Amino acid sequence: MATTHNLGFPRIGKNRELKFALESFWRGDSSQQALQQTGQTLRQTHWQAQNQLDYLPVGDFSFYDHVLDASALLGNFPSRVNDQANDLDKYFQVARGQSQSESACQHISAGEMTKWFDTNYHYIVPEFDADTSFSLHASRLLSQISEAKQQGIKVKPVIVGPVSYLWLGKSKDGSNKLDLLDDLVATYEQLLLALDKEGIEWVQIDEPILVTELDQQWQHALKQAYFALNKAPVKLLLTSYFGELKENLHLACELPVAGLHIDAINAFTEVTNVVDWLAPHKVLSLGVINGRNIWKTDLNATLDWLEPLQARLKVRLWLAPSCSLLHVPVDLDSENELDDEIQSWLAFAVQKLDELSILAAALNEGREAVAEELVLNAFALQSRQNSSRVHNSKVKARVKAIEPALANRQSTYQQRAKVQQQRFNLPLFPTTTIGSFPQTAEIRQARKRYRLGKLEESDYQQFIKNEIKYAIEQQEVIGLDVLVHGEAERNDMVEYFGQQLDGYAFSQFGWVQSYGSRCVKPPIIYGDISRPKPMTVDWAVYAQSLSDKPVKGMLTGPVTILNWSFVRDDQPRSQTCQQIALAIRDEVQDLEQAGISIIQIDEAALREGLPLRQSQWQAYLDWAVNSYKISANGVSDETQIHTHMCYSEFNDIIEAIADMDADVITIETSRSDMELLDVFKEFDYPNEIGPGVYDIHSPNIPTVEQIVLLMKKASQRIPAERLWVNPDCGLKTRGWKEVKPALTAMVTASLILRNSLPE
Ligand code: GLN
Ligand code: ZN
Repeated sequence: MATTHNLGFPRIGKNRELKFALESFWRGDSSQQALQQTGQTLRQTHWQAQNQLDYLPVGDFSFYDHVLDASALLGNFPSRVNDQANDLDKYFQVARGQSQSESACQHISAGEMTKWFDTNYHYIVPEFDADTSFSLHASRLLSQISEAKQQGIKVKPVIVGPVSYLWLGKSKDGSNKLDLLDDLVATYEQLLLALDKEGIEWVQIDEPILVTELDQQWQHALKQAYFALNKAPVKLLLTSYFGELKENLHLACELPVAGLHIDAINAFTEVTNVVDWLAPHKVLSLGVINGRNIWKTDLNATLDWLEPLQARLKVRLWLAPSCSLLHVPVDLDSENELDDEIQSWLAFAVQKLDELSILAAALNEGREAVAEELVLNAFALQSRQNSSRVHNSKVKARVKAIEPALANRQSTYQQRAKVQQQRFNLPLFPTTTIGSFPQTAEIRQARKRYRLGKLEESDYQQFIKNEIKYAIEQQEVIGLDVLVHGEAERNDMVEYFGQQLDGYAFSQFGWVQSYGSRCVKPPIIYGDISRPKPMTVDWAVYAQSLSDKPVKGMLTGPVTILNWSFVRDDQPRSQTCQQIALAIRDEVQDLEQAGISIIQIDEAALREGLPLRQSQWQAYLDWAVNSYKISANGVSDETQIHTHMCYSEFNDIIEAIADMDADVITIETSRSDMELLDVFKEFDYPNEIGPGVYDIHSPNIPTVEQIVLLMKKASQRIPAERLWVNPDCGLKTRGWKEVKPALTAMVTASLILRNSLPE
């Protein structure tokens, strides 16, 4: 009999109930009890939705983040939290600097947040120093266990493993995190004892670092931890996901635990190897349903390879999604505006668990037992495979015909720079912005009314034109050198393009947690991507007609569009990216044709797509950078190409960035005091660069002196003739009241810099 279980369920709620409850509590509009009540209701609903499984996860629910929950469980909050506060207030202090905005509690600096492996989920980084000690605070977990037991379900607590917990955290004083391992493991031993007392049989212990490159110290730490925990009276299911185990495969198989879970989607080729290596008393849990995408599983094909394995493993075989379902939307049945055919190809969390049950039934009772379900599944898959909406032969032919030359500019940067200087005659330290201007309540409302059909097309057009006009006027007054139209027509830098591209679908409720109460709704790429008509040209031309200064055309790059979408699983990501690249290339060329002389192609998420293992980075960078170049480089020498990235930790990928060959790149740097530019000491970045001079995330207005100082630092690394002056990122979250003085300071600083330079 195959046993079914789940690694984690989305916690945000089908209608984002958790988001609204949290935000209401933080605002001070509702009580802690009300929030706790919402939490309890959500947990109960989610357990009900998983009820058909043999083991249900408990402890996967979180008010903010499961790594922060682990810190709470282990008594590891930074010492700056207010000792007087209650547990939940302390928790939110670490998460976001304060609990309720109304409360008298002091405001502390929030814990750092960073990406959870290669997902778009962000966790709160645990903090350590040489004096860190751990102590068990299990009441939250234990009370959820008793809640679940009251519902009569089979409980499998879920915890972050001790070694991954250390690995994910940051040492604040440079001490070695691994020195804390013994103390940490001792706390885990206590936890497992407590769980045993509750009658728990299996505990899921997540060690996702098993799919990363680990040095000997970390490999040893895993051995040390699990040999110690082996004494515990409960059974441990050691869980890895998101990738292949590779050189850690034997280690994972040999750690003394009762069971191992592997991601049979991303590590499909390792399954047989693991079956061979795993000791005969151990359970093997296979993650056979993709927990990272929204496509239906091919159930028949999965059974084809699972059945022989079941014959070998018998009761030792467990089935689960590949990873926690945190990374997919909750329930497809909520959708009522998706096209029926496309909807029939999809599975969200609830549907994925149905698939799991069908697989288990087929294995346990024979395929006949679920014959109808299997036929329906095959039918849906066939419809997707053969659909003329998925396949566009023209697009495929175009991708096939891509030649290397398509990615390259006509001349070198040096030659282009000369032609461009003649055309634009820009001063030293030219000033510009990253694209968006404040998205006021009126703008958001106009877009919404237009979407709902409450605002006529022509009125909406006029409204946006007025916004563009206002933005251009303001920039002229402020005295910027290269202007933008302000992006008032865009809700989101990916959705805006997705909505105009063929091959894209949009869900209504397909929310996925990004961090805390924040969710994103990634659009779905279901088919070959093409551009039926120009997407931005009219707005760009209108904006340019209002000024004698160059107004940048503004596009999102193919890699960012890809990385922020749910992507097809029936062709390599690189191929989908090339299709998007060709669509953007057409847009770039249309903009050029229409007289737009500077075009910016944002690649905010290029770095995000880096694979988990560094050994695989180059392969990704090769196709990602090439796709960007295909989109950008089909223009004449006198057209200036800008790109923008929302980070600048690219020390390790600087060569790939240089290879993009944008005439100008604007990046985020101000928060690090230009330290991030240190990479340019060793690497001679060849083209122009605009290191962001102020942090747009903060309402603070930079002073002229600050900006001058930062730019002087920058000019120690990069020759002044190749420097631009600009903010860190787009200004859409700010108000005009802040934007005007901030940009004015920027322009003044640039004038000072120009005049202070020796002739
Ligand atoms: N052009 C976009 C803007 O200014 C860039 C946003 C981003 O990089 N995230 O809003
Ligand atoms: Zn940005």
